[in-house]
Amino acid sequence: MNKLDNKVALIIGAASGIGQAIAKLYQSEGATLALADLNQDACASICTAEDSAYRVDVSSAESVQALVNAVVERHGRIDILVNSAGILNECPITEMSPDIFDQMIAVNLRGVFLACHYVAPLMVEQRSGRIINIASQLAHKGAIGMSHYSAAKAGILGMTKSMARELAPYNVLTNAIAPGPISTPLLGDVSSEWIGEKEAELPLGRFGKPEEVAPSALLLAASPDGDLYLGQALGPNSGDVM
Ligand code: NAD
Repeated sequence: MNKLDNKVALIIGAASGIGQAIAKLYQSEGATLALADLNQDACASICTAEDSAYRVDVSSAESVQALVNAVVERHGRIDILVNSAGILNECPITEMSPDIFDQMIAVNLRGVFLACHYVAPLMVEQRSGRIINIASQLAHKGAIGMSHYSAAKAGILGMTKSMARELAPYNVLTNAIAPGPISTPLLGDVSSEWIGEKEAELPLGRFGKPEEVAPSALLLAASPDGDLYLGQALGPNSGDVM
């Protein structure tokens, strides 16, 4: 018996990094996957015949709603939603145009809201579901040049805690994962100076791997393992005691 047998998992941001590692772990635990990203081909490359892959732009409400409709049409239900799509760039607040700020919020915060908004009613109707939002340690700590990113991630934590309270009566459990630095293509756009500073701060002295984050997402998705987790923000590679 696998931990996710008979579960349908919609993973958004599954083409790369943490989302892809979660997809592979869920697959190995028996889940049926619905994988979505701007990069549909990379999602499709992970899929078996029973899985499905979609292109979505989480900054568009129409795109996210169409995705959720397509997944329900294909698989009939959504048991687990993982929101892992995200972007990262560095910009001092003094130079940050409103457009740069808005774009970050549109993808990293509003995109998570949209997926939750369209999926939660299905889970409420099912009287069962798990929602896992990928935040970041920067929600707690902030970082130079990351005010927009940190704000979006802090927003995810606030939204996750409120959703946890709203949806728990319907057996829909909402949690977050707030990783410290993890080696993925996301970090390609940040400076090596920033990476060096971060590694020096970390108790392990190294960045994590996406595969080391995925078990947190399995814990939060599986029953009975994750049954008592609600409004939490697990922090792999953070070094912090929350
Ligand atoms: P990644 O770049 O490997 O993966 C992010 C994925 O999001 C990509 O496949 C990308 O195509 C997709 N994406 C970007 N914009 C999108 C959009 N508008 N619509 C749909 N998909 C879109 O990065 P990752 O490190 O795996 O990041 C996954 C999540 O983890 C992100 O939310 C990120 O903020 C968060 N996170 C990452 C780290 C880290 O150090 N890597 C630390 C903490 C949190």
